Amino acid sequence: MAAKRVLLKLSGESLSDGSSSISANSLLRTVNEIKSAVTCSRVQLAVVIGAGNIWRGACKFIERVTADKMGMLVTVMNSLALSDALAKAGMKSNLFSANGVSGFAENFNREKVIRCIEQGNTTVIFAGGTGNPFFTTDTTAALRAAEIKADMLLKATQVDGVYSADPKKNKDAVKFNSLTFKEALDKHLKIMDYEAFSLCMQTNISITVFDFYKDGNLKKVLNGEKVGTIVEA
Ligand code: UDP
Repeated sequence: MAAKRVLLKLSGESLSDGSSSISANSLLRTVNEIKSAVTCSRVQLAVVIGAGNIWRGACKFIERVTADKMGMLVTVMNSLALSDALAKAGMKSNLFSANGVSGFAENFNREKVIRCIEQGNTTVIFAGGTGNPFFTTDTTAALRAAEIKADMLLKATQVDGVYSADPKKNKDAVKFNSLTFKEALDKHLKIMDYEAFSLCMQTNISITVFDFYKDGNLKKVLNGEKVGTIVEA
């Protein structure tokens, strides 16, 4: 069976314990989840990590474009932290950034990235967002997933899937195990931001929303177990 090519979108919070922007425990946990998932499944893994643990663009006293650039730079920092922790766990990674950050990461080059992925035995990390302001790392994840022809995009969250309403506010909220893109649109469900969702729909890449903070869930998703909510054509 051919290896699945998977794009994992982690939020910046996956490296944080709430009090410190990057905490040793959270970083280690994230890497352990990745390691145990990758070693137990036939998967070619690429990761996009956000920056919300340190910086989100919107800011009253800094121009939006500048603030977004800062956000993209923070994704480089988070990606370096992830790459370092993967190395300490004995895992190879290759870090590519959208914009030139010479000396920190290689410039994104689709052909090189695909060669790396196909050689196997590495986790590819995409830093620097899309390289453009006014976008998010969710959109980055969808864009990179489309560029590398990923089979699936995994959105790691703190909830165990997509609900009909916010389960924290509405006790009658119902969880969906699966949805089509059209159903998600018709029901006005927020799976990812609009650009990300639309790109996945156009390129027919399924999105699985799952609780990354439950130990072993990433491994389960990669092994095809029914975890979270899958949105597909
Ligand atoms: N960002 C951007 N362009 C991109 C990706 C990210 O300008 O292509 C900036 C934007 O300011 C965003 C911040 O980087 O708020 C952090 O990304 P995101 O909010 O997606 O991080 P997450 O919530 O996943 O941790």
